[in-house]
Amino acid sequence: MAVVPPRQVAILSIANYSTICNEVSAQAADEAMEDLRQMAIGCGVDSGYMRLFQNNTILLRLDDLPRQGFLDAIHCLGARARSLETPGTKHIKPVVRVGAMSERALRSFVNDAAADLLSYMNHVDCPAAFLAGDELDIWQQFESSGIELMSHEQLKYMDPFTGLLRPERFFELLQGSIDEDDQRTKDIHVLYFDIDDFKSYNRAFSYDAGDELLMFLARQIAEAFPSDVVSHLSIDRFAVLTSASDIVRKCAIVHETVRSFNKAFAPEVKCGAFKLEPGLESAHLAMDCAKLACESIKGRYDIACRFFDDKLRERMFTRRYVAHHAEKAVSEHWIQAFAQPVVYTRTGDVCGFEALARWIDPEIGMLSPAVFIPTLEEAHLIHKLDLCIVDEVCQHLAKRMQAGETRLHASVNLSRLDFGLCDAVQEISTRCDNLGIPHSMLAIEVTESALDSDLNLRREMDRFRTAGFEVWMDDFGCGYSSLNLLKDYEFDVLKVDMEFLRDMESNRRSKTIVASVIRMAKRLGIRTLVEGVETKEQCDFLREAGCDMMQGYLFGKPRPLEIAAI
Ligand code: C2E
Ligand code: CA
Ligand code: CA
Repeated sequence: MAVVPPRQVAILSIANYSTICNEVSAQAADEAMEDLRQMAIGCGVDSGYMRLFQNNTILLRLDDLPRQGFLDAIHCLGARARSLETPGTKHIKPVVRVGAMSERALRSFVNDAAADLLSYMNHVDCPAAFLAGDELDIWQQFESSGIELMSHEQLKYMDPFTGLLRPERFFELLQGSIDEDDQRTKDIHVLYFDIDDFKSYNRAFSYDAGDELLMFLARQIAEAFPSDVVSHLSIDRFAVLTSASDIVRKCAIVHETVRSFNKAFAPEVKCGAFKLEPGLESAHLAMDCAKLACESIKGRYDIACRFFDDKLRERMFTRRYVAHHAEKAVSEHWIQAFAQPVVYTRTGDVCGFEALARWIDPEIGMLSPAVFIPTLEEAHLIHKLDLCIVDEVCQHLAKRMQAGETRLHASVNLSRLDFGLCDAVQEISTRCDNLGIPHSMLAIEVTESALDSDLNLRREMDRFRTAGFEVWMDDFGCGYSSLNLLKDYEFDVLKVDMEFLRDMESNRRSKTIVASVIRMAKRLGIRTLVEGVETKEQCDFLREAGCDMMQGYLFGKPRPLEIAAI
């Protein structure tokens, strides 16, 4: 019985086709495609069936060629890929990609296998690659040819955007390493990379520029860890499984190179490292540990890589504890509102307070919001906490009103997620109305990072204002988008981030910035509140600058509502 050989397909493409279209002309780009086709004919591929695929790609079915003929043709194309002659495209040289695979592979195992193979070649700038299927025994023949060989598996596991491994596969390999028993002697680390404030980079330079940065970073990590497993986890997050001993040095190189990729922004790539240990529960826990180490150095300029250590282990324990007890903490009232006074700058009189959440745990004592807010957000329970705080604040205000106090105001912090998890405007209105509290007594604080690019939130802010609540922008100035937000949203108060005051004594520019922000807000009819006031000098300066309200340790630390006597 005659054996029918699998059909072979060659994929020829011009990677910069659209650039040629845009910068020279569509006609020139199509002429280049025709030159490519002629080149294929010159290599002996003059039979078979052609079709245009995504405009810049030709698929050639090579079933008429005998096997050796097919291999020779692909070799020939691979060798010529970098030297296509195309006078029509002027100064832009077409970037040719030659791929090949069995037709069965193309059809059956991955959607868009051809597109994935091409995008892989584009990523690693490899002119020719061959996707070897199980049915083909030709691996050796390509070994010395300069043509990359990939297996179905490889392509299936590849992230087409970066050419790195997909996360699902990474976790399988990580789990494999954890399960191996000789791991103790092998010193394997899992690394977690993340770009600080990547969102701002996108906003400042465009999404295309953001993509370029990600591709660049992907390449830098892959080059720094050439013999290790490197994966693209999600947007700006990458992971490596490595047995390298000079991790710090490698990370420092990646960090520096990426900083200089865009000198105006100097993107900060941070890395957290976790050494695999025997008895580890899961691959995800290992990754969480590396991630925590990475997060712990966010915003620091003096350190690019941190290893998971005992201090972080404790923090990890607290996090998991918080995650497991979140629901209970809310229902059992372990969450309490603390109050920090807000004073009028002119008179120094207390005009209100900000409610700040505390978790008073029966087992481990008091936890700060920095520990439990992110965990509650992840668990989608944050709205319960925030409404709990609103409840306490309303009850407190009701008591104060009964005592004849009507001019006091309180502000509460809302998370961006609250708006997706409940009807915050409705919930808060009802709570106020049940206790007869005028909406004008309550202000809603939303951080600028929550507001960026969220149209839905804008509607919700308007609803709050229409319902008679004030809306305050929290942490103004610590993100990239503060000024843009002022353009798009209506606020009653700007809360100027306390970082501006930190170096005020030594840095004259901080003073100038704070004074200008206050002036600008005044012109826009927005009141100002500066947070984190700790010294008499800061207080005097703010009075002179015309700031409306102040808050900080100088006037009082956050204390339990009933004790704060506000
Ligand atoms: P925030 O809204 O910017 O709150 C101000 C933080 O600065 C508070 O930290 C406060 O204790 C601290 N602070 C106030 N004055 C000074 C000062 O003079 N010097 C210094 N160094 N710090 C000062 P806290 O209470 O740890 O809260 C941290 C963050 O957690 C808050 O930042 C807020 O974003 C979030 N948060 C707190 N309570 C809640 C809540 O009920 N709901 C939500 N969603 N977030 C909350
Ligand atoms: Ca706040
Ligand atoms: Ca703040």
